[in-house]
Amino acid sequence: MHLNRALNILVAVLSLCLSLSAWAQPEPIEITSESAIQTHFQFWEDATGEASIDQVASLANERWALIANGSATFGLTQSAYWLRFSIKNQTPLNLNLITELGYSQLDDVAFYVYAGNVQEKQLKTGDGRPFYPRDVDHPSMLLRITLAPEEIKTVYVRVATAGSMIVPLRIWREQTFFETAAYELKLHFFYYGCIFVIVLINLAVYLSLRENLYLYYALALSGYLLFFASIKGFSFQHLYPLLPELHAKALLVSIPALALFSLLFCREFLSTKIHSPRLDKVLIAMMVFEVLFLISAPFLDYHTGIQLASFSALVFFSLLLVAGPVVWMEGVRAGAFFTVAWTPLTIGVLATSGRALGVFPENFFTEYAMQIGSGLEAFILTVALADRLYREREDKIAAQAASLREAQSRNEAQNRLTEALTHDSVTGLPNRNRFELMVDQQLQEAPQRRYMVGVARITRLDEINRTLGLTRSEWIVKRVAEQMVELAAGLPLVKAIRDNQGREERVYHLSSDCFCLLIDVGKAVNDFSALNAALRRLAEPIWLDHLAIELNPRFGAASYPEHGRTAAELIRNAHVGMEVTPRGLNETGLYSKRHDIYNESRLTLMADLREALQHNQTLLFYQPKQDLKTGHIIGVEALIRWHHHERGWVNPADFIPLAEETGVIIQLTRWVIGQATADLAHLQQDYPQLSVAINISARDLESAELHSTLALALQHNGLQACSVTLEITETAAMLDPARSLQALNVLAELGHPISIDDFGSGYSSLSYLKQLPASELKLDRSLIHDVCVSESADVIVSTAIQMARSLGYRVVGEGIEDAETASRLQSEGCDMLQGYWLCKPKPIAELKQWLQVFNSNNV
Ligand code: C2E
Ligand code: MG
Ligand code: MG
Repeated sequence: MHLNRALNILVAVLSLCLSLSAWAQPEPIEITSESAIQTHFQFWEDATGEASIDQVASLANERWALIANGSATFGLTQSAYWLRFSIKNQTPLNLNLITELGYSQLDDVAFYVYAGNVQEKQLKTGDGRPFYPRDVDHPSMLLRITLAPEEIKTVYVRVATAGSMIVPLRIWREQTFFETAAYELKLHFFYYGCIFVIVLINLAVYLSLRENLYLYYALALSGYLLFFASIKGFSFQHLYPLLPELHAKALLVSIPALALFSLLFCREFLSTKIHSPRLDKVLIAMMVFEVLFLISAPFLDYHTGIQLASFSALVFFSLLLVAGPVVWMEGVRAGAFFTVAWTPLTIGVLATSGRALGVFPENFFTEYAMQIGSGLEAFILTVALADRLYREREDKIAAQAASLREAQSRNEAQNRLTEALTHDSVTGLPNRNRFELMVDQQLQEAPQRRYMVGVARITRLDEINRTLGLTRSEWIVKRVAEQMVELAAGLPLVKAIRDNQGREERVYHLSSDCFCLLIDVGKAVNDFSALNAALRRLAEPIWLDHLAIELNPRFGAASYPEHGRTAAELIRNAHVGMEVTPRGLNETGLYSKRHDIYNESRLTLMADLREALQHNQTLLFYQPKQDLKTGHIIGVEALIRWHHHERGWVNPADFIPLAEETGVIIQLTRWVIGQATADLAHLQQDYPQLSVAINISARDLESAELHSTLALALQHNGLQACSVTLEITETAAMLDPARSLQALNVLAELGHPISIDDFGSGYSSLSYLKQLPASELKLDRSLIHDVCVSESADVIVSTAIQMARSLGYRVVGEGIEDAETASRLQSEGCDMLQGYWLCKPKPIAELKQWLQVFNSNNV
């Protein structure tokens, strides 16, 4: 519309030039019964605006210019314009006519009606005055005229306005006017009604979604409503008829308002910030201009306001015309909608301008082009917004579905991770984590019950791995796992639970070569035999490609609550049981504190032992060895004694294995050799035939310093190697047979008698032991302990003595506690004996006294 005005300025100049060439007499507009009324008028420009009606009426005819089509546009002008026309009633009837100046924005309009030279009527109107009183209640400038048949009346109209001087003049038959006006009114209010409903819908959407887009759109449409209602004069007529000032401002304000909100809407709708930042900047600049315009509009004079409005409208329309396609080209659907919506409005603006310029004919379409355009725009954009709502909902659903899928795959990944963390990848069995969890849960749920944690290790797995390769060794592990699960299923004493996927768990895969299970001891009253049978089955070789693969499994166990109160402790101790407790082949090593060389308190014990050795706080006791043939004491065994400052006397069985494991034994042996040789030298002063036996561990045999220590000690005390016997247990000698053999050979060559200690407590065979350069064999106490009560024990002992003797050993019976055993052993051919029956181990001073007493008794 404002563009329309701008263009009208141009048209006014043009039409002025054209019409100036046509001077003419006022021809009356003849009104006949049949034809439509062809309006034309004359005009005179009153540049000062001061001419009175009388002066104008007396102007010469030549001063008047003719507008033949009844409509003129004089643009923006300070002048007042006088229009003049005559009407003649050619009909036989009285005529009621209406003269219409069909532009509601004219500020000051005065009608003067003359019949001949007599002024018959005068009416002053225009939107510069309050709306009422008017001849007809209508926004256009209207004047009623009655004409008797053949009567001629001349009408002068003075028009002055600050806006565009547009004077579309029409003479109507009263009835036709009202019919047309009513029809037009209906159209207008249909249009306003539609726009208003769209505004309400968008406001409602805004209120529920709180998305600014809908608010901007509602406000932009309200701007259009205000603009059309103002320009057509309806708002003035209906809303504020007494406030002509407000009417003028409302029109001025409506232009930047509709532009501002349209721009805001456009930015938001097209997301120009994302899709075309450059366009976005231009839109922002334009918005800044519109805001300034909006703020200043109420204070601007009408003339400047209209000029700014024309400029703003021109830029604003062009901008929004390109905005749609720019974003559309980026492949954004909203761009297409915007382009399609903005096009009818642009066509409407062009059609209106074209009509004003005379390029397009006057018709319904050209007259209402802008309303139609803006209506279509509103409709298309409403559809677009609905589409957007729909798409957003679809996107939301899609996003929800995607996030569901994501959550699902995250869940699956988590499950896989949990599975990996709780199950072994090779066997698929639950792993140590699951086992600990299960055991701790059981212990917590029923702390009063008795349980046992059992572990099994395939000791040859490393070797199998190296020999047969990973794939086959994995196959074997799987096979073992299957076998264990199968065997465990037949043992009700093995605790079984179900995991959250319903899988049964009985056997757990602790580490690559190690499996474990929980035994409910309460259920095992009669059932350990079944368990042992299962273990024996497990120890059988596995067949792979016609090869019998020996697995050499080892079994260990720890009991709850004696050996631990948590899963971790029980597992650890079951391992300790498996590794250190001496036992028979395929038997389960039950944990015992005594053998637990890893026990923490034992580690501190080692530090204390080291210190005790350093500060000579350890002692040696001596236990005599009697020759059964002569009855003489031929030697003493050196046995270490340690009085711990806090624990009191510590049993050698509690610290010797640990000293061996930690290497402290080297230091210990060195100290024993030093002390024992010194004591022997002292003893030999009275008993020169005495020898001393020193206990040597496997670690000592591995160390290079043993001979030198011995040699030095012998030299230092002036002793012969033959008087220092070295006792080595059969199990120690078996640990690394080749190396032990070599080391013992060297010692034997130096002249040390070698004695095999604790014979019968392990599993070594005499056939192996006979390779050792030993001359003496000590039968373990456990072997001879019930020789007098058990016939089978007696058979074993006598066989062992005979075999040992036949292999050339002198046989010593150890731990003889009573005379009966002593005489039995003597009768079975035992060479020597040692034991409490004869004498308990004693400190050197007491031993000397004892020797004295003994010798005096036996002389
Ligand atoms: P062992 O070498 O077999 O020593 C004999 C053990 O049997 C000694 O225990 C001794 O006191 C005990 N004993 C002797 N006669 C009887 C008896 O009639 N009844 C009973 N119940 N026991 C008897 P001890 O002194 O407690 O030593 C235990 C083991 O500790 C020794 O067994 C030996 O293997 C080791 N040991 C002791 N002292 C040393 C040492 O200085 N060096 C090394 N390497 N080991 C030592
Ligand atoms: Mg010994
Ligand atoms: Mg012994």
